[in-house]
Amino acid sequence: MSEQHLRKIDNPVNKYPKPPFKKQPQEVPGLASKMDPIPDHGEKSYRGSGRLQGRKALITGGDSGIGRAAAIAYAREGADVVINYLPEEQSDADEVLALILAEGRKGYAIPGDIRTEEFCKSLVEQAVEKLGGIDILVNNAGHQQAVDSILDISSEAFDTTLKTNVYAPFWITKAALPHLPEGASIIATSSVQAYDPSENLFDYAQTKAANVAFVKSLSKQLGPKGIRVNGVAPGPVWTPLQISGGQPQDAIVKFGEVTPLGRPGQPAELASIFVQLADSDASYATGQIYGAAGGGGHP
Ligand code: NAD
Ligand code: MG
Repeated sequence: MSEQHLRKIDNPVNKYPKPPFKKQPQEVPGLASKMDPIPDHGEKSYRGSGRLQGRKALITGGDSGIGRAAAIAYAREGADVVINYLPEEQSDADEVLALILAEGRKGYAIPGDIRTEEFCKSLVEQAVEKLGGIDILVNNAGHQQAVDSILDISSEAFDTTLKTNVYAPFWITKAALPHLPEGASIIATSSVQAYDPSENLFDYAQTKAANVAFVKSLSKQLGPKGIRVNGVAPGPVWTPLQISGGQPQDAIVKFGEVTPLGRPGQPAELASIFVQLADSDASYATGQIYGAAGGGGHP
């Protein structure tokens, strides 16, 4: 094998930044471009090999974090990609769109708030129209705010967490299903919080457990129809979600320290999992949750 085909072997412990990190509060939903260090979404590192040639993907929360890593990887694997995000994240979304287009793929950025069924329906309709269909659906957008006491969680805040993390995947999947062909793949982003909830993520953790049940139930319903449904359960990953209130700032300083690798994951380190679950090579994987937690967590 020639030198250029050899892949570097990385020590996962030293591969990426370790704590301590600077405190860096941002307003929700936060921008990846303003983080220090800037997360690695695979912009310079992800190399495709045609695994998703001709596929059509809709990714929510595709502007930043784990969703952006999936979007870049999907484009480099040959898929056309629609990303959804909130209007205030336009600058992050523009960066992702440019990377998708640079691969010679079709890429579309559709901003909008997924907390209403009306927008979720329209998002799916627009994605189907722009891509000529959908065969990969990644329900990845999420809302997380750490609050120490249940007494300080308002009904409005609880509702936002539930609408974003539980209702939106329901609405989007329901709207997309009539368009999904046999062989399509639905992917949820759950969390280690589904299995071992933190005391200060009372509402969020419940939604991530709901994401697991979504996968486990819907995979049974759709298996006979030839549609696979799987999920990813990340541990601590360096994204805007965490620094914009997902964790208290004191916890940002030592974010990821408790994992055996001693650091948070970077979104790029999860990209290949989203590719694997979308690829028809993984045709016997349905109803599964893939962990990516640096040595802790479940499943
Ligand atoms: P992120 O902030 O980069 O992505 C979350 C995205 O959700 C935002 O970019 C935003 O576009 C989208 N979003 C939030 N509210 C929305 C709304 N009302 N309408 C439309 N879009 C909305 O952070 P991330 O960590 O990459 O989060 C992606 C997923 O990963 C989430 O489901 C999160 O629960 C999950 N997760 C993250 C971690 C972690 O440590 N970062 C760990 C486990 C699970
Ligand atoms: Mg974002």
